[in-house]
Amino acid sequence: MTILPLHSYAAGRWIAPSGNITTLKSAVTGEPVAEIGSGGLDYAGMAEHARRTGGPALRTMTFHQRAAMLKALAQYLNEHRDPLYELSYETGSTKADSMIDIDGGIGTLFVYASKGKRELPDDTIYVDGALEQLSRGGNFLGQHVATSLQGVAVHINAFNFPVWGMLEKLAPTLLAGVPAIVKPASATAWLTEAAFRMMIESGLLPEGAVQLIAGPTGDLLDRLGCQDVVSFTGSAATAGMLRANPRLIANSVRFIAEQDSLNASILGPDASPGTPEFDAFVKEVHREMTAKAGQKCTAMRRLIVPDAHRDAVIEAVADRLAKTVIGNPRDEATRMGALASLAQRADVREKVEAIAREARLVHGDPQKVDVSGADAEKGAFISPLLFACDDPDGAEGIHAVEAFGPVSTVMGYRDIAHAAALANRGGGSLVASVFTRDPAVARQVVEVAGAFHGRLYFANRDTGKEATGHGSPLPHMVHGGPGRAGGGEEMGGIRGVMHYMQRTAIQASPDLMTGITGGWVAGAQTLEKDRHPFRMRFAELEIGHTLWTKSRQVTLEDIEHFAEFTGDTFYAHMDEEAAKANPFFPGRVAHGYLILSFAAGLFVDPAPGPVLANYGLDNLRFMKPVSPGDSLKVRLTAKTKTRRNDEYGEVRWDVAVVNQDGEQVAGYELLTMNAM
Ligand code: NDP
Repeated sequence: MTILPLHSYAAGRWIAPSGNITTLKSAVTGEPVAEIGSGGLDYAGMAEHARRTGGPALRTMTFHQRAAMLKALAQYLNEHRDPLYELSYETGSTKADSMIDIDGGIGTLFVYASKGKRELPDDTIYVDGALEQLSRGGNFLGQHVATSLQGVAVHINAFNFPVWGMLEKLAPTLLAGVPAIVKPASATAWLTEAAFRMMIESGLLPEGAVQLIAGPTGDLLDRLGCQDVVSFTGSAATAGMLRANPRLIANSVRFIAEQDSLNASILGPDASPGTPEFDAFVKEVHREMTAKAGQKCTAMRRLIVPDAHRDAVIEAVADRLAKTVIGNPRDEATRMGALASLAQRADVREKVEAIAREARLVHGDPQKVDVSGADAEKGAFISPLLFACDDPDGAEGIHAVEAFGPVSTVMGYRDIAHAAALANRGGGSLVASVFTRDPAVARQVVEVAGAFHGRLYFANRDTGKEATGHGSPLPHMVHGGPGRAGGGEEMGGIRGVMHYMQRTAIQASPDLMTGITGGWVAGAQTLEKDRHPFRMRFAELEIGHTLWTKSRQVTLEDIEHFAEFTGDTFYAHMDEEAAKANPFFPGRVAHGYLILSFAAGLFVDPAPGPVLANYGLDNLRFMKPVSPGDSLKVRLTAKTKTRRNDEYGEVRWDVAVVNQDGEQVAGYELLTMNAM
């Protein structure tokens, strides 16, 4: 096999390895695969290129344009991904492992593309949360907004997911409008470099949006300032060393860390042998130990099971492990491949020694493993290792030492409070799972262990095959955890985008607020025109365009007719005495839905026109009762517009229904789809 020279990509140029060159070896055969070295890179120049070229280009795009870019990128990678599998075998991964990495990474891009389109505005400013009324008169308002950081995101990735690790960080970063410098872990960098090369070849990203360092990061971290972010995945030791960089501290550079984690899985007290929950637990333990040869930051390291079922769990898991075919990841029969490198195997063996001081080995041998289709010594193969600990309360190492391979320890618990307390002994973890059908158990685990975990995963016969697995971080959900796990968060949907944006509290008048956010707020100027706003095409409609309707009286006959017609004969509308006894009502009152219906009758423009559909309303409030004899009129104001495609867009209307005294009786936001 030709040895691949891994290139860095700096300021728009591919740069061959130089300086201290390291040869990277196949995890399967021990043969050289690639050479890596970033000597001579102009790190400061890379950071400046990102800030001066990549950032401005991304910031001219709206969230929707960036989302479309991510979608196109995901499609491109999807179509070109086949060669990546071939390279992935050399990292020790089976086809199934590679799918988690490669397809999982592309899937994450797709999810962010879709979330960006649906949950972010077609704008460059993100409005965060609700408007705050800061004064009685309504002329001084508060609103949080978020804007893109104007620096560079430095992504330092782990060796275990060369593609997913890059894409799960890039997706929210690029959606935020921030350029990135990607630094893959050396051990598996040939796969990251190949996937990165495809992104550049796609031509879909603006110049400077992404750069790659194949090799050490030199003095890059010493060049970072207040607009930059470091996002790190790897060992706690490296994270601790990097976050202590004086420059990062002095400039309060955001440092997101995802590091060691002693994840737990709890077998519920109700999940005794013979139940579907017990079987699901055993299956999942086996999967977590063997997928990626246990090199997952989320893998189950501690198996916390009822004392009474400990032996049954050990027997069932050991039985499955014994049947696992370990060997050449290219062979279809292989269920578990190799660790990523011989260094990694040496590290696992060393960590296992610490665990063995507190726990008995009940399956496997750290020094010996039978493999098929490969050389167990030349390749980084290791046997799955199952330990049992008799004194989990007294033990320290099993809760603190992460052997980053197919290694788990079984321990018994007395009751669920004890189980959750043991899970917390990990000192902060990415994930804990619980196999139970008992809602009280689930509630108790969340109460006791929630604060120690970034994610709690509950599985049982009902979640069945639909469940995504203990070990799978999902782009929709937060990935990260407190304490030992790094104290950071990644993904979690749009939350992950916010890590690359600055939240700013805006305090201003209604008109300025409308100008800043692009959305009309109550108290700001309105535009009243000759034409009904429903006659305006999406493109013509101006924010603030307002219609005041004529008024209409609500009669007792109206209320009775509505009650009879709909079947809603609730006493507040039909029984004067009973209604009066209710502290909220002066007597019989109009139905809330009657008020809404009359409002629609007042503001609707009936003829066919640009309004294609009314598809809902948000934030509906009935503020004052409407009595027979009251008169209603409506203010309808165009609040925001969101383009959906070339044919139509969403209009959000602010609707206020007021009575004859000018008091607002109802308010809501109406959503329509309007033709372009
Ligand atoms: P490291 O912490 O050594 O490396 C992580 C990343 O940091 C790599 O990209 C590495 O690059 C980079 N790095 C190392 N030193 C520096 C530095 N001085 N400046 C800038 N970047 C640096 O972790 P490993 O990947 O070697 O894994 C070691 C252990 O970490 C595992 O055995 C496991 O216990 C834990 N781990 C935990 C993960 C988790 O998510 N919980 C994921 C992966 C690992 P390079 O490779 O070039 O040195």
